[in-house]
Amino acid sequence: MIKSIGVIGAGQMGNGIAHVFALCGYEVILMDHHLSNTEKALKTIEKNLNRQVQKEVISKSDADTAFKRISTSTSLADFNDVDLAIEAATENEDVKKSIFTDLSDIMKKDAIMASNTSSISITRLASVTDRPEKFIGVHFMNPVPIMQLVELIRGIATDDDTYETVKELIAKIGKESASSEDFPGFIVNRILMPMINEAVYTLYEGVGDVSSIDMSMRLGANHPMGPLQLADFIGLDTCLAIMQVLYDGLADSKYRPCPLLVKYVEAGWLGRKTGKGFYDYSGDEPQPTR
Ligand code: NAD
Repeated sequence: MIKSIGVIGAGQMGNGIAHVFALCGYEVILMDHHLSNTEKALKTIEKNLNRQVQKEVISKSDADTAFKRISTSTSLADFNDVDLAIEAATENEDVKKSIFTDLSDIMKKDAIMASNTSSISITRLASVTDRPEKFIGVHFMNPVPIMQLVELIRGIATDDDTYETVKELIAKIGKESASSEDFPGFIVNRILMPMINEAVYTLYEGVGDVSSIDMSMRLGANHPMGPLQLADFIGLDTCLAIMQVLYDGLADSKYRPCPLLVKYVEAGWLGRKTGKGFYDYSGDEPQPTR
């Protein structure tokens, strides 16, 4: 029975995951290696809970109680009593492996480990732990409080009990789960990320500018957001990391990350989270950077 949850990484996804579980009655520890990130995450969670109160999705007392259920930490040592850890740190295999290696010595032996990775092999991440059978991919979508889907990915060793326990948990927080096999990018990003990468190629080759590309896909394909706007929303570092995993893991040149995407990441223009990506977010309205 899962009652307490530890979340590693207090970025866009970590704060959303903490928000949703706290609102559904779970005790949450939100951990990041930078104190300033946990402080920022708490402010974001408070703002997002208040927005839900204003929209009359939840009551003020629900929001206050949920907020009190979240504690923060800068040390994995505080995860010694959680029933489930969900890792939502930067999309980098070495970073994630180091976290799971440390967690193996800290967490209760019957506790479950999960990764919110967008693309990295669940089997490989599980292999560094002391419990590959209790390890699973739980891929939330951004923004977590709003998006309905969670992809569940079994590694080669994941046991039925772990899969069913997590599937039930996802149903309890009111979300739908889709099952994906453990291949690079799983289902959503195997399809979505090459489209985003192709949009960046379209920009790189001068077929269209940022506004025309986004408008074309919004009005021409009925997508709620243009692909470059979506890339900024996801984070260009995350998009690049996912393309690299697809390229390396599937060994097909069609997944080659666009050099312009690489250049934006090298410039530190990572999208909304840094204030600049394919759009500049410093003014009242986002302005295209190309
Ligand atoms: P982010 O850059 O907003 O946040 C990552 C956080 O992890 C940062 O606060 C960073 O300080 C922290 N971190 C890095 N190394 C750490 C460590 N060793 N210990 C503790 N904290 C550490 O990134 P994000 O968008 O929240 O993505 C996080 C994960 O979720 C990635 O694996 C990403 O692929 C996945 N994901 C992202 C999206 C999206 O749309 N952004 C959607 C689904 C899944």
